[in-house]
Amino acid sequence: MKVDVIGLNKPKIVILGAGYGGIMTAVRLEKELKMDEAEVVLVNKHNYHYQSTWLHENAAGTLHHDKTRIPINDCINKSKTKFVQDTVVEVKPDEKRVILENGELSYDYLVVGLGFESETFGIKGLKEHAFSISNINTARMIREHIDYQFATYNNEPEKKDERLTLVVGGAGFTGIEFVGELANRVPQLCAEYDIPREKVRIYCVEAAPTALPGFDPELVEYAMNLLESKGVEFKIGTMIKECTPEGIVVEKDEKVEEIKAATVVWAAGVRGSGIVEESGFETMRGRVKVRKDMRDPNRDDVFIVGDCALIINEEINRPYPPTAQIAIQQAQTVARNLASLIRGEEALETFTPDLKGTVASLGEGEAIGVIMGDKKLFGKTASMMKKVIDNRYLYLLGGVPMVLKKGKLKMF
Ligand code: FAD
Ligand code: NAD
Repeated sequence: MKVDVIGLNKPKIVILGAGYGGIMTAVRLEKELKMDEAEVVLVNKHNYHYQSTWLHENAAGTLHHDKTRIPINDCINKSKTKFVQDTVVEVKPDEKRVILENGELSYDYLVVGLGFESETFGIKGLKEHAFSISNINTARMIREHIDYQFATYNNEPEKKDERLTLVVGGAGFTGIEFVGELANRVPQLCAEYDIPREKVRIYCVEAAPTALPGFDPELVEYAMNLLESKGVEFKIGTMIKECTPEGIVVEKDEKVEEIKAATVVWAAGVRGSGIVEESGFETMRGRVKVRKDMRDPNRDDVFIVGDCALIINEEINRPYPPTAQIAIQQAQTVARNLASLIRGEEALETFTPDLKGTVASLGEGEAIGVIMGDKKLFGKTASMMKKVIDNRYLYLLGGVPMVLKKGKLKMF
């Protein structure tokens, strides 16, 4: 029997999830570690990595999901990182084991990067009747569902206008980016299925007194004006109270209203993966308040990366919003800290986010953003910047070939 003597002595790093945080940890480790310093195993549900930041386009049908997903084997060096396609069921940190649907793995060091899930805050009927933009499967289902509603409309003797009513819950960044895509997609659907545009209603319902709460008011006004000019109807200061098979129930100024809609997409909040909480980690909405070096507060051998990690902005004493930008940066710190631990170095790097800004798309060719602290961007310039950010990520992941294959190269 052949025994891998080197393999026996090598520390084993297991990375759970190949989202921004997980895959970038793996890619960075390939650069940080020398050959045979450690065995690295990356576990993911699917054989592809996907850019969650493009899922709203897949859901609206303005971008095919094959552009958004990338085979994991195209991102990693198979001689340095072993990929296991499987679903994580539970982590047993006290036993240093991970239970998968089809087996289990032991580890010396673990990186948890299982990402986000939709947070429905216990609102009645949302889990059962609303869609969420959470992964490739849910995005593809939304696109198919909307197409089906349009296709069915002219085939029924009694026309059901609710088939052409689309409700988006939340005017945070996800909600706003999604209605931006829908506003562009709807005229195409109307032309395809012979439906007058004025029959279609797109509602965006936001509980706070403004869309994009906390964002620059001038940019918010620009976004709302643009989206309204394309037929989006905002219901601001309006709380979604319930979702039913027929639509949603909302409340504003103590007045309750029902909106009949065949499509309700809940884009009003996220939380960390339920698996983290269920595995006994201390969490707040599925997110572990990590130490400065990105490790779990109670376990020296477990790092948490991306949307499963909670980090505090000490200037305002509030959590940083979970973003891809932060997940990618965290991965670099996690990879360097893992390399240090493996080499027996005790001093680990502190993670400090280096926020470059926020840019949100409003459909092809339109966006808003703030970069370099306070520089505001509108329209085409902002849209171009968004594509630069997306292409830069692809460059970090797989160099120029990845940008050419998957990038957004139509800049104007
Ligand atoms: P994810 O990207 O969620 O990846 C998690 C990975 O884990 C996935 O590959 C998943 O398949 C895998 N996984 C999950 N569960 C299991 C399991 N049980 N077993 C095995 N594998 C599993 N942020 C920005 O900075 N800029 C933006 O422009 C931006 N736009 C966004 C647009 C939309 C529509 C959305 C929804 C979010 C956007 N965000 C943006 C936020 C950003 O997408 C998240 O912060 C980011 O995806 C978090 O990365 P992650 O690696 O933690 O997790
Ligand atoms: P979010 O929490 O940022 O926004 C959710 C919105 O829904 C809020 O405005 C909230 O007031 C509203 N809401 C909550 N409950 C409601 C209810 N019952 N009825 C009506 N409205 C309700 O969530 P998100 O937009 O999904 O964003 C998640 C994370 O992803 C954030 O960190 C965000 O910054 C990030 N993101 C970034 C970008 C970008 O940078 N371009 C794009 C999308 C998402």
